[in-house]
Amino acid sequence: MQLSNAAQAAETLQKKSNVAIAIHGGAGTILKSSMTPQKEAAYKNVLAKAVKHGYSLLQEGRKGEVAVVETIKILETSPLFNAGIGAVYTFDGEHELDASIMHGGNKNAGAVAGVKTIRSPIEAALLVMNESPHVMLSGEGAESFAEENGLEQVENTVFDTEFRKQALDRVKARMQQASNGYGTQQGNERFGTVGAVVLDSEGNIVAGTSTGGMTAKRYGRIGDSPVIGAGTFADNESCAVSATGHGEYFIRYNVAADICARMKYQGLTLDDAANTVVNEVLVNAGGEGGVIAIDSKGNIAMPFNSAGMYRASVSKGGKVTVAIYKN
Ligand code: ASP
Repeated sequence: MQLSNAAQAAETLQKKSNVAIAIHGGAGTILKSSMTPQKEAAYKNVLAKAVKHGYSLLQEGRKGEVAVVETIKILETSPLFNAGIGAVYTFDGEHELDASIMHGGNKNAGAVAGVKTIRSPIEAALLVMNESPHVMLSGEGAESFAEENGLEQVENTVFDTEFRKQALDRVKARMQQASNGYGTQQGNERFGTVGAVVLDSEGNIVAGTSTGGMTAKRYGRIGDSPVIGAGTFADNESCAVSATGHGEYFIRYNVAADICARMKYQGLTLDDAANTVVNEVLVNAGGEGGVIAIDSKGNIAMPFNSAGMYRASVSKGGKVTVAIYKN
């Protein structure tokens, strides 16, 4: 049956209002008592700006992966978050960035790990997904691939911030006191990883994550953020997830994929699947952090087991939320 022009226009409008997005800016020991009203407002402003931008792209009918990348780029550009500018320092005083993206419709995925000179790691992850036969590229190889494909290269010092330098000094002092040379679990020193999950007007769900990893990481340590299944996963038949937290636990417990699997094979709701993994499995294991997740109906879940998680969402009905602490 041929739809009339008016019916076609109504269908297009309907599709475009059926979009939704959730973002995070990291989970950790984020306490209201250690926050100033100015700092809190600054975080909320960037989160609101990013989530609204992503939502408007989705409403325009742009693809989910475009909305994810453009949203994350706003967070990578802000010095407040541990991704791009504002990334944490490695033990050697540099920045090594990780990012990944996955499309829930065609199950394509792309990731970069340990890159130092790519201005936008999430853009590079998209490039790996779209323009290479691979899923994950690392280090100098990833940088050459990005450069050959026209992505902007920068000096590593572009990502410097004084706030993260002080965090490095604190963690190094703790490491010196620790018997194994590694120090204790980090709370305030690594929060700020960013991620986005979206439902686009074609009904596809997409997830992306970008991070500087953990403060004072060394020996080429890579966390969960660029690992498909651990920090990022998407499957139209279940959900799309972006994680943040102590990466080693998220890798070992395959967190993002496990949430999707519980929906797919156990028939759990998005809320129940995400909550079980974050607030039971990870808590029992001692893994701190949280996730944002969306399903193909546009349901959103944002559970975390730490004191706070920077987060924001725009639901299918257009309701905007921006939050930091529990409740
Ligand atoms: N998950 C990141 C990592 O382990 C850090 C974070 O999300 O805070 O590299």
